[in-house]
Amino acid sequence: MSTPVNLDTIRLVPKVLLHDHLDGGLRPQTVIDLARAAGYAGLPHEDADELGRWFAAAADSGSLERYLETFSHTVAVMQTAEALARVAAECVEDLAADGVVYAEIRYAPELFQEQGLTLDRIVAAVQDGFRDGERRAAAEGKRIRIGTLLCAMRQNARSAEIANLAVRYRDSEVVGFDIAGPEAGFPPTRNLDAFEYLRQQNAHFTIHAGEAFGLPSIWEAIQHCGAERLGHGVRIVDDIKVDEDGSVHLGRLASYIRDRRIPLEMCPSSNLQTGAAKSIAEHPIGLLAKLRFRVTVNTDNRLMSHCSMSSEFAALHEAFGYGWADMQWFAVNAMKSAFIGFDERLEIIDDVIKPGYAALLE
Ligand SMILES: [Zn+2]
Repeated sequence: MSTPVNLDTIRLVPKVLLHDHLDGGLRPQTVIDLARAAGYAGLPHEDADELGRWFAAAADSGSLERYLETFSHTVAVMQTAEALARVAAECVEDLAADGVVYAEIRYAPELFQEQGLTLDRIVAAVQDGFRDGERRAAAEGKRIRIGTLLCAMRQNARSAEIANLAVRYRDSEVVGFDIAGPEAGFPPTRNLDAFEYLRQQNAHFTIHAGEAFGLPSIWEAIQHCGAERLGHGVRIVDDIKVDEDGSVHLGRLASYIRDRRIPLEMCPSSNLQTGAAKSIAEHPIGLLAKLRFRVTVNTDNRLMSHCSMSSEFAALHEAFGYGWADMQWFAVNAMKSAFIGFDERLEIIDDVIKPGYAALLE
Protein backbone atom coordinates (compact mmCIF):
# COMPACT_ATOMS: atom_id res chain seq x y z
CA MET A 1 0.00 0.00 0.00
CA SER A 2 1.48 3.33 -0.94
CA THR A 3 1.91 6.03 1.66
CA PRO A 4 -0.50 8.94 1.04
CA VAL A 5 1.10 12.26 0.13
CA ASN A 6 0.11 14.95 2.63
CA LEU A 7 1.74 17.62 4.75
CA ASP A 8 2.51 15.20 7.59
CA THR A 9 4.09 12.53 5.41
CA ILE A 10 5.99 15.08 3.30
CA ARG A 11 7.62 16.42 6.48
CA LEU A 12 9.22 12.99 7.03
CA VAL A 13 11.09 12.69 3.73
CA PRO A 14 14.50 14.30 3.12
CA LYS A 15 14.33 17.65 1.35
CA VAL A 16 17.01 20.01 0.02
CA LEU A 17 16.63 23.79 0.02
CA LEU A 18 18.88 26.12 -1.99
CA HIS A 19 17.06 29.45 -1.83
CA ASP A 20 15.95 30.81 1.54
CA HIS A 21 16.59 34.27 3.02
CA LEU A 22 17.65 34.45 6.66
CA ASP A 23 15.77 37.74 7.18
CA GLY A 24 12.66 36.23 5.58
CA GLY A 25 12.35 33.23 7.86
CA LEU A 26 12.09 34.48 11.45
CA ARG A 27 9.57 33.05 13.89
CA PRO A 28 6.95 35.73 14.68
CA GLN A 29 7.61 35.34 18.42
CA THR A 30 11.32 35.89 17.82
CA VAL A 31 10.59 39.11 15.93
CA ILE A 32 8.62 40.27 19.00
CA ASP A 33 11.31 39.19 21.50
CA LEU A 34 14.12 40.81 19.55
CA ALA A 35 12.12 44.01 19.03
CA ARG A 36 11.60 44.27 22.78
CA ALA A 37 15.28 43.63 23.50
CA ALA A 38 16.29 46.28 20.95
CA GLY A 39 13.71 48.83 22.08
CA TYR A 40 12.24 48.75 18.57
CA ALA A 41 8.69 50.11 18.67
CA GLY A 42 7.77 49.80 14.99
CA LEU A 43 6.01 46.41 14.96
CA PRO A 44 2.35 46.44 13.86
CA HIS A 45 1.38 43.73 16.41
CA GLU A 46 2.67 42.44 19.73
CA ASP A 47 0.95 39.04 19.50
CA ALA A 48 2.83 36.30 17.61
CA ASP A 49 -0.20 34.88 15.76
CA GLU A 50 -1.43 38.29 14.72
CA LEU A 51 2.05 39.35 13.69
CA GLY A 52 2.51 36.18 11.64
CA ARG A 53 -0.78 36.85 9.86
CA TRP A 54 0.20 40.48 9.29
CA PHE A 55 3.47 39.46 7.59
CA ALA A 56 1.69 37.05 5.24
CA ALA A 57 -1.08 39.56 4.46
CA ALA A 58 1.36 42.40 3.79
CA ALA A 59 3.40 40.17 1.48
CA ASP A 60 0.18 39.02 -0.22
CA SER A 61 -1.20 42.51 -0.70
CA GLY A 62 0.32 43.04 -4.13
CA SER A 63 1.79 46.32 -2.88
CA LEU A 64 5.55 46.57 -3.17
CA GLU A 65 5.71 49.11 -0.33
CA ARG A 66 3.92 46.78 2.06
CA TYR A 67 6.05 43.85 0.93
CA LEU A 68 9.23 45.80 1.58
CA GLU A 69 7.90 46.99 4.93
CA THR A 70 7.92 43.38 6.15
CA PHE A 71 11.68 43.23 5.66
CA SER A 72 12.22 46.60 7.32
CA HIS A 73 10.94 45.00 10.55
CA THR A 74 12.96 41.78 10.39
CA VAL A 75 16.12 43.63 9.43
CA ALA A 76 15.55 46.20 12.20
CA VAL A 77 15.57 43.51 14.91
CA MET A 78 18.66 41.70 13.56
CA GLN A 79 21.25 44.38 14.30
CA THR A 80 23.22 42.65 17.07
CA ALA A 81 25.44 39.57 17.03
CA GLU A 82 23.17 37.88 19.58
CA ALA A 83 20.07 38.50 17.48
CA LEU A 84 21.76 37.20 14.31
CA ALA A 85 22.99 34.05 16.06
CA ARG A 86 19.54 33.36 17.51
CA VAL A 87 17.77 33.82 14.18
CA ALA A 88 20.33 31.58 12.46
CA ALA A 89 20.05 28.80 15.07
CA GLU A 90 16.24 28.85 14.98
CA CYS A 91 16.28 28.78 11.19
CA VAL A 92 18.23 25.49 11.33
CA GLU A 93 15.91 24.03 13.98
CA ASP A 94 12.82 24.91 11.95
CA LEU A 95 14.24 23.45 8.73
CA ALA A 96 15.39 20.26 10.48
CA ALA A 97 11.94 19.81 12.04
CA ASP A 98 10.50 20.13 8.52
CA GLY A 99 12.73 17.32 7.20
CA VAL A 100 15.27 19.48 5.37
CA VAL A 101 18.65 17.69 5.33
CA TYR A 102 20.73 20.26 3.47
CA ALA A 103 20.05 23.98 3.03
CA GLU A 104 21.85 27.00 1.63
CA ILE A 105 20.67 30.07 3.54
CA ARG A 106 21.42 33.53 2.20
CA TYR A 107 21.50 37.04 3.60
CA ALA A 108 23.09 40.40 2.83
CA PRO A 109 25.59 41.25 5.61
CA GLU A 110 25.51 44.95 4.61
CA LEU A 111 21.93 45.22 5.93
CA PHE A 112 22.97 44.48 9.51
CA GLN A 113 25.42 47.32 10.09
CA GLU A 114 22.96 49.93 11.40
CA GLN A 115 24.42 49.64 14.90
CA GLY A 116 28.02 49.40 13.84
CA LEU A 117 28.64 45.66 13.47
CA THR A 118 31.54 44.91 11.13
CA LEU A 119 30.93 42.58 8.19
CA ASP A 120 33.25 40.01 9.78
CA ARG A 121 31.37 40.13 13.08
CA ILE A 122 28.08 39.62 11.25
CA VAL A 123 29.33 36.60 9.32
CA ALA A 124 30.90 35.08 12.45
CA ALA A 125 27.67 35.52 14.45
CA VAL A 126 25.50 33.91 11.78
CA GLN A 127 27.95 31.02 11.28
CA ASP A 128 27.97 30.43 15.06
CA GLY A 129 24.19 30.36 15.02
CA PHE A 130 24.06 27.86 12.16
CA ARG A 131 26.53 25.52 13.92
CA ASP A 132 24.54 25.85 17.12
CA GLY A 133 21.34 25.01 15.24
CA GLU A 134 22.97 21.96 13.62
CA ARG A 135 24.00 20.71 17.08
CA ARG A 136 20.51 21.28 18.51
CA ALA A 137 18.98 19.42 15.56
CA ALA A 138 21.46 16.55 16.00
CA ALA A 139 20.45 16.32 19.66
CA GLU A 140 16.89 15.78 18.42
CA GLY A 141 18.11 13.03 16.09
CA LYS A 142 17.87 15.21 12.95
CA ARG A 143 20.75 15.39 10.50
CA ILE A 144 21.03 18.75 8.73
CA ARG A 145 23.87 20.70 7.16
CA ILE A 146 23.77 24.40 6.37
CA GLY A 147 25.83 26.23 3.77
CA THR A 148 25.79 30.03 3.70
CA LEU A 149 25.43 32.32 0.69
CA LEU A 150 26.40 35.96 1.15
CA CYS A 151 24.32 38.42 -0.89
CA ALA A 152 25.17 41.87 -2.10
CA MET A 153 22.23 44.24 -2.64
CA ARG A 154 21.85 45.28 -6.27
CA GLN A 155 21.03 48.90 -5.40
CA ASN A 156 24.17 49.39 -3.28
CA ALA A 157 27.66 49.30 -4.71
CA ARG A 158 29.31 46.85 -2.37
CA SER A 159 29.35 43.64 -4.39
CA ALA A 160 33.16 43.46 -4.72
CA GLU A 161 33.54 43.86 -0.96
CA ILE A 162 30.91 41.17 -0.21
CA ALA A 163 32.38 38.80 -2.81
CA ASN A 164 35.72 39.17 -1.05
CA LEU A 165 34.03 38.45 2.27
CA ALA A 166 32.50 35.26 0.85
CA VAL A 167 35.89 34.07 -0.36
CA ARG A 168 37.52 34.82 3.00
CA TYR A 169 34.97 32.62 4.80
CA ARG A 170 34.85 29.83 2.20
CA ASP A 171 36.51 27.37 4.61
CA SER A 172 33.90 28.15 7.29
CA GLU A 173 30.85 26.91 5.39
CA VAL A 174 30.23 30.09 3.38
CA VAL A 175 29.68 28.24 0.12
CA GLY A 176 28.77 31.00 -2.31
CA PHE A 177 27.59 34.46 -3.29
CA ASP A 178 24.44 36.02 -4.75
CA ILE A 179 23.06 39.40 -5.68
CA ALA A 180 19.58 40.27 -4.44
CA GLY A 181 17.25 43.29 -4.47
CA PRO A 182 15.34 45.05 -7.27
CA GLU A 183 16.01 43.63 -10.75
CA ALA A 184 14.55 46.51 -12.73
CA GLY A 185 17.16 49.19 -13.29
CA PHE A 186 19.93 47.15 -11.67
CA PRO A 187 21.16 44.61 -14.22
CA PRO A 188 23.59 41.97 -12.95
CA THR A 189 26.32 43.34 -15.22
CA ARG A 190 26.70 46.29 -12.79
CA ASN A 191 28.55 43.82 -10.57
CA LEU A 192 30.87 42.32 -13.20
CA ASP A 193 34.01 42.99 -11.21
CA ALA A 194 32.65 40.91 -8.31
CA PHE A 195 31.74 38.01 -10.60
CA GLU A 196 35.13 38.11 -12.34
CA TYR A 197 36.86 38.07 -8.97
CA LEU A 198 34.79 35.07 -7.82
CA ARG A 199 35.57 33.14 -10.96
CA GLN A 200 39.27 33.89 -10.57
CA GLN A 201 38.98 32.50 -7.04
CA ASN A 202 37.12 29.37 -8.25
CA ALA A 203 34.22 30.43 -6.02
CA HIS A 204 30.54 29.72 -6.61
CA PHE A 205 27.69 32.14 -7.19
CA THR A 206 24.04 32.30 -8.13
CA ILE A 207 22.14 35.40 -9.27
CA HIS A 208 18.53 36.46 -8.61
CA ALA A 209 17.34 36.82 -12.20
CA GLY A 210 14.19 36.34 -14.20
CA GLU A 211 11.72 36.74 -11.35
CA ALA A 212 9.82 39.87 -12.27
CA PHE A 213 12.20 40.79 -15.06
CA GLY A 214 12.43 38.95 -18.33
CA LEU A 215 14.85 37.07 -20.52
CA PRO A 216 17.56 39.77 -20.84
CA SER A 217 18.16 39.54 -17.09
CA ILE A 218 18.56 35.75 -17.31
CA TRP A 219 20.78 36.00 -20.36
CA GLU A 220 23.06 38.55 -18.67
CA ALA A 221 23.29 36.51 -15.49
CA ILE A 222 24.36 33.39 -17.36
CA GLN A 223 26.32 34.63 -20.37
CA HIS A 224 27.85 37.88 -19.07
CA CYS A 225 28.27 37.18 -15.40
CA GLY A 226 28.77 33.41 -15.39
CA ALA A 227 26.14 32.51 -12.77
CA GLU A 228 26.08 28.79 -12.00
CA ARG A 229 22.43 28.86 -10.90
CA LEU A 230 19.46 31.20 -11.38
CA GLY A 231 17.53 32.58 -8.41
CA HIS A 232 13.94 32.00 -9.62
CA GLY A 233 14.53 32.07 -13.39
CA VAL A 234 10.75 31.82 -13.86
CA ARG A 235 10.69 34.03 -16.96
CA ILE A 236 12.69 31.46 -18.94
CA VAL A 237 9.22 30.25 -19.99
CA ASP A 238 9.07 33.35 -22.22
CA ASP A 239 11.58 31.52 -24.43
CA ILE A 240 9.45 28.38 -24.67
CA LYS A 241 6.54 28.03 -27.08
CA VAL A 242 3.87 25.39 -26.60
CA ASP A 243 1.64 24.77 -29.64
CA GLU A 244 -2.02 23.86 -29.40
CA ASP A 245 -1.19 20.23 -30.25
CA GLY A 246 1.18 20.21 -27.26
CA SER A 247 4.43 20.28 -29.20
CA VAL A 248 7.11 22.35 -27.48
CA HIS A 249 9.71 24.66 -29.01
CA LEU A 250 12.62 25.90 -26.96
CA GLY A 251 14.40 29.12 -27.91
CA ARG A 252 18.18 29.23 -27.87
CA LEU A 253 18.50 30.58 -24.32
CA ALA A 254 16.01 28.09 -22.89
CA SER A 255 17.80 25.28 -24.75
CA TYR A 256 21.15 26.44 -23.40
CA ILE A 257 19.86 26.48 -19.84
CA ARG A 258 18.36 23.03 -20.14
CA ASP A 259 21.30 21.54 -22.06
CA ARG A 260 23.85 22.87 -19.58
CA ARG A 261 21.70 21.67 -16.65
CA ILE A 262 21.69 25.17 -15.12
CA PRO A 263 19.69 24.90 -11.89
CA LEU A 264 16.55 27.00 -11.47
CA GLU A 265 15.88 27.94 -7.84
CA MET A 266 12.10 28.13 -8.09
CA CYS A 267 10.01 29.50 -5.23
CA PRO A 268 6.33 28.92 -6.11
CA SER A 269 4.52 30.64 -3.21
CA SER A 270 6.87 33.61 -3.21
CA ASN A 271 6.38 34.04 -6.96
CA LEU A 272 2.62 34.29 -6.45
CA GLN A 273 3.16 37.17 -4.03
CA THR A 274 5.44 39.07 -6.36
CA GLY A 275 3.07 38.51 -9.27
CA ALA A 276 5.45 36.31 -11.26
CA ALA A 277 2.70 33.66 -11.42
CA LYS A 278 -1.07 33.73 -10.84
CA SER A 279 -1.52 30.38 -9.09
CA ILE A 280 0.57 27.34 -8.24
CA ALA A 281 -1.27 25.41 -10.95
CA GLU A 282 -0.27 28.07 -13.50
CA HIS A 283 3.29 28.35 -12.20
CA PRO A 284 5.89 27.60 -14.91
CA ILE A 285 7.46 25.00 -12.62
CA GLY A 286 4.95 22.46 -13.99
CA LEU A 287 6.06 22.92 -17.60
CA LEU A 288 9.76 23.27 -16.74
CA ALA A 289 9.79 20.10 -14.63
CA LYS A 290 7.96 18.21 -17.39
CA LEU A 291 10.60 19.36 -19.87
CA ARG A 292 13.31 18.12 -17.45
CA PHE A 293 14.96 21.45 -16.75
CA ARG A 294 17.14 21.26 -13.62
CA VAL A 295 14.28 22.50 -11.43
CA THR A 296 14.55 22.85 -7.65
CA VAL A 297 11.82 23.78 -5.16
CA ASN A 298 12.49 26.47 -2.57
CA THR A 299 10.83 28.63 0.06
CA ASP A 300 12.46 32.08 -0.49
CA ASN A 301 10.87 33.75 2.59
CA ARG A 302 9.15 31.34 4.96
CA LEU A 303 7.74 34.08 7.20
CA MET A 304 6.37 36.35 4.46
CA SER A 305 5.11 33.51 2.27
CA HIS A 306 3.84 31.59 5.29
CA CYS A 307 5.37 28.42 3.88
CA SER A 308 7.82 25.61 4.50
CA MET A 309 9.50 23.13 2.16
CA SER A 310 6.78 20.64 3.08
CA SER A 311 3.93 23.07 2.41
CA GLU A 312 5.47 23.97 -0.96
CA PHE A 313 5.56 20.29 -1.92
CA ALA A 314 2.01 19.78 -0.61
CA ALA A 315 0.86 22.65 -2.85
CA LEU A 316 2.73 21.19 -5.83
CA HIS A 317 1.20 17.79 -5.14
CA GLU A 318 -2.26 19.42 -5.22
CA ALA A 319 -1.55 21.35 -8.41
CA PHE A 320 0.43 18.81 -10.44
CA GLY A 321 -0.12 15.48 -8.71
CA TYR A 322 3.57 15.11 -7.84
CA GLY A 323 4.29 11.96 -5.85
CA TRP A 324 7.27 10.53 -3.97
CA ALA A 325 9.34 9.83 -7.10
CA ASP A 326 8.94 13.47 -8.17
CA MET A 327 9.90 14.73 -4.72
CA GLN A 328 13.00 12.58 -4.74
CA TRP A 329 13.84 13.94 -8.19
CA PHE A 330 13.56 17.53 -6.88
CA ALA A 331 15.70 16.69 -3.85
CA VAL A 332 18.39 15.04 -5.98
CA ASN A 333 18.27 17.95 -8.45
CA ALA A 334 18.85 20.40 -5.60
CA MET A 335 21.61 18.34 -4.05
CA LYS A 336 23.40 18.01 -7.40
CA SER A 337 23.18 21.80 -7.71
CA ALA A 338 24.49 22.65 -4.22
CA PHE A 339 27.71 24.61 -3.83
CA ILE A 340 29.49 22.10 -1.57
CA GLY A 341 31.99 19.60 -2.97
CA PHE A 342 31.00 16.81 -5.37
CA ASP A 343 31.85 13.98 -2.98
CA GLU A 344 29.87 15.62 -0.18
CA ARG A 345 26.85 16.05 -2.44
CA LEU A 346 27.05 12.44 -3.56
CA GLU A 347 27.23 11.25 0.02
CA ILE A 348 24.02 13.08 0.95
CA ILE A 349 22.26 11.74 -2.17
CA ASP A 350 23.33 8.15 -1.58
CA ASP A 351 23.25 7.96 2.21
CA VAL A 352 20.39 10.30 3.08
CA ILE A 353 18.07 11.14 0.18
CA LYS A 354 17.78 7.80 -1.62
CA PRO A 355 17.29 5.74 1.57
CA GLY A 356 14.72 8.32 2.72
CA TYR A 357 12.50 7.63 -0.29
CA ALA A 358 13.35 3.96 -0.88
CA ALA A 359 10.53 2.47 1.16
CA LEU A 360 7.99 4.87 -0.41
CA LEU A 361 8.99 3.98 -3.95
CA GLU A 362 8.69 0.19 -3.60
ZN1 LIG B 1 15.17 35.30 -3.11
